Amino acid sequence: MHLQSTKTLVNGVEMPRFGLGVYKMTEREETLQAIDTALKFGYRAIDTASLYGNEAEVGEAIRYSGIPREDIFVTTKVWNNDQGYDATLRAFEVSLKNLNMDYLDLYLTHWAVPETFEETYRAIERLYDEKLIRATGVSNHHEHHLEKILAKANTVPMVNQVELHPYLQQQPLSAFCREHQIAVTAWSPLGRGGVLHDPTIVELGQDIGKTAAQVVLRWHLQNDTLIIPKSVTPSRIKENAQIFDFVLTEAQMAKMATLNRDQRFGQHPDHFKFDF
Ligand code: NAD
Repeated sequence: MHLQSTKTLVNGVEMPRFGLGVYKMTEREETLQAIDTALKFGYRAIDTASLYGNEAEVGEAIRYSGIPREDIFVTTKVWNNDQGYDATLRAFEVSLKNLNMDYLDLYLTHWAVPETFEETYRAIERLYDEKLIRATGVSNHHEHHLEKILAKANTVPMVNQVELHPYLQQQPLSAFCREHQIAVTAWSPLGRGGVLHDPTIVELGQDIGKTAAQVVLRWHLQNDTLIIPKSVTPSRIKENAQIFDFVLTEAQMAKMATLNRDQRFGQHPDHFKFDF
């Protein structure tokens, strides 16, 4: 495995296992710099969302890099108050315009708004049929959401992006996704930094000469989880990607598995406040 290794989605599309998350990158120059650093270092996937307000910068940084568009995997998401069939189609047009692109690699329902998530996914299927996106997906969907979608879908969701890190290992949901050939992407793969002082992880890193962040990110990859760690700091952008020169042993993976405490740093998909 290397920085540009991909996972083959159920429709044959190759999705990079590693990418840059750009949540809370609201400063224009900082965002352009972070993406520039990441792409120069070899990152080939960017995860944004209409909510993040930086789709324009993502598009600009990608064009500036000179890397062919088709070599970079771009994901964005439809925000909660844009959901429903027609609204999603309109929101997609806006995202595409902001990014200044003519297609996207992956489009996700950001959260499962109870009244509209099924219709939202139906619109995503249409975008796929029209070849405006190369893969379909959802985010923050639990088994019960996916079951509803799977019951009706002509094109099954290819990706589910959920909060996942050593303190929230999401084993039942990951197993469900595996069973249905849905790739799992971890958001907050570092628990927003909240798992990096864990004594077990720090000690494990010391044993092998790696930082806690590197141990955690490597653990994700060895679990077949795709990752999109976020940082605007050039040294961390590089550090996070330097995880391809070591392997965690079975015993080290087993130790990591003991750290689960079902602890979220973000919101719970079934208790999300959708009315803001
Ligand atoms: P993360 O787990 O990637 O942590 C990011 C934070 O960890 C940084 O702000 C920084 O403070 C720290 N950090 C990063 N690298 C470090 C290093 N090497 N050493 C020490 N500290 C380090 O959290 P995130 O930003 O919440 O998640 C990553 C991406 O996931 C987001 O940018 C976004 O693209 C996506 N996301 C999606 C959803 C969703 O609902 N779908 C929600 C949250 C985030």
